Amino acid sequence: MNLFATLDQAADRFGDRGAVYCGEQQLHTWSQLRQRALRLAASLRRVHAPGRRIAIASENRAEIIELFYAVWAAECVVVPVNFKLHPREMAQILDDCGAAMVFASPKIAAELTPHSPVGVEQIGGPDYDQLFTAPPADAPVTDPSTLAWLFYTSGTTGRSKGAMLSHRSLTAMTVAHLADIDSPDEKCSLLHAAPMSHGSGLYIAPYVLRGARQVVAASGVFDPEEFLDLCAAHPGSSAFLAPTMIQRLVDTGRKAPAALRTIVYGGGPMYVDGLKKAMAAFGPVFAQIYGQGESPMTITGLRRADHELAGDEILGSVGYPRSGVEVAVLGQDGSRAEPGQIGEIVCRGDVVMSGYWNNPAATRDTVRQGWLYTGDMGSFDDRGYLTLHDRSKDVVISGGSNIYPREVEEALLEHPDVAEACVVGAPDPEWGEVVVAFVVGSAAGDVLDAHLLDRIARFKRPKRYLFVDDLPKNSYGKVLKRELRARLG
Ligand code: AMP
Repeated sequence: MNLFATLDQAADRFGDRGAVYCGEQQLHTWSQLRQRALRLAASLRRVHAPGRRIAIASENRAEIIELFYAVWAAECVVVPVNFKLHPREMAQILDDCGAAMVFASPKIAAELTPHSPVGVEQIGGPDYDQLFTAPPADAPVTDPSTLAWLFYTSGTTGRSKGAMLSHRSLTAMTVAHLADIDSPDEKCSLLHAAPMSHGSGLYIAPYVLRGARQVVAASGVFDPEEFLDLCAAHPGSSAFLAPTMIQRLVDTGRKAPAALRTIVYGGGPMYVDGLKKAMAAFGPVFAQIYGQGESPMTITGLRRADHELAGDEILGSVGYPRSGVEVAVLGQDGSRAEPGQIGEIVCRGDVVMSGYWNNPAATRDTVRQGWLYTGDMGSFDDRGYLTLHDRSKDVVISGGSNIYPREVEEALLEHPDVAEACVVGAPDPEWGEVVVAFVVGSAAGDVLDAHLLDRIARFKRPKRYLFVDDLPKNSYGKVLKRELRARLG
């Protein structure tokens, strides 16, 4: 099956209902969206053979939805590029994937054109409108193993790699989302708050399949006030937000509009303290996903209902394996770890990527006998809940003991005068590594030390506290630990 089927079915069932909105304004019905995607697909097919990579570099815009479906209908591959990258970094991705062309928003087109190795087509310009004049293409018939999306990883640990996601993988993701996390219908809406090139873009297919409105903020960026207004304006709103975005929503001091249905969070640690504050402010609307580009948004998850009943241990976990996905924790010898033992998280299922684009060595390293080696460390409890500790590269080994930064960060964040905390290892001649905490906040080091003594083992306490105005983050809001380590020399 081709992901285009999700739109085809929605258009058959919900033809005249509103499909795409910019802010509060309806742009297209489902029938119109299908027509537009098939016309654009016909124009693409005239010049591009199936399998060609077609990149999209844009802040969130309503056209991204028709572009995705048109590229799939043309049996080409979408390569969404993070719009916050430097144009040279974008050009590197275009080079790496051998893109045939790139659709770019007017702002990005201007910056990218001097660097781009391929033609840049401006979204929304007069030439763009011309692409919709072709008679519509036929709906595609595609082998599910065909590549649909090259998902460039956020590259917190090195250069970004292109995870190859097939129609089968993204269909498995779609079905698992509807089964485990959120089950919207045609009276619901999806608000695109996080970048549609990554986090939020993955949510398009499940919500399209159910005929839920696709709403893109008129500003094209995440503005917490605008987001809450849109939640009130559209029925049954769901959205994917990174944990830092949820913090910004809480900071508005506003209550959740009645129409807010589900906020899905993931992509980075959501600390228990922050989650409880968010639940107090917005109610039981939260669901969690743990995934990575290599197994898009689908490894484990925690439903809304789990949040209502859960104690701190479960709120601090990433939930349990998702429908259709096998998840295991492996000890150092490669055998399955017992509950409570920490090891590398691996997973297997249709959702797992087919490999990295043009990078067989990295593929061999990461996918072995069908199992995806996530590079994340975790442990299961007796009931099958998985707790994520850290990426294996971030674990601090001090005097032969493993210290998981997340645990120290959680404890630091329980102090009222700590706004943000990030813990890394610094080389040390005596201990191998020692724990160093970067802290945004006003509590003094000795106060934090006393606070931690009540909460975690002595040997896990930071040997040094470094107070900073903010933590370095990449364009998805993930803290760049390697930059913090580099500051330590
Ligand atoms: P990316 O491929 O950019 O989405 O990054 C994936 C990585 O983000 C995972 O391997 C985890 O280290 C982290 N991550 C994803 N979801 C969660 C979550 N729910 N809680 C904590 N970390 C997460």
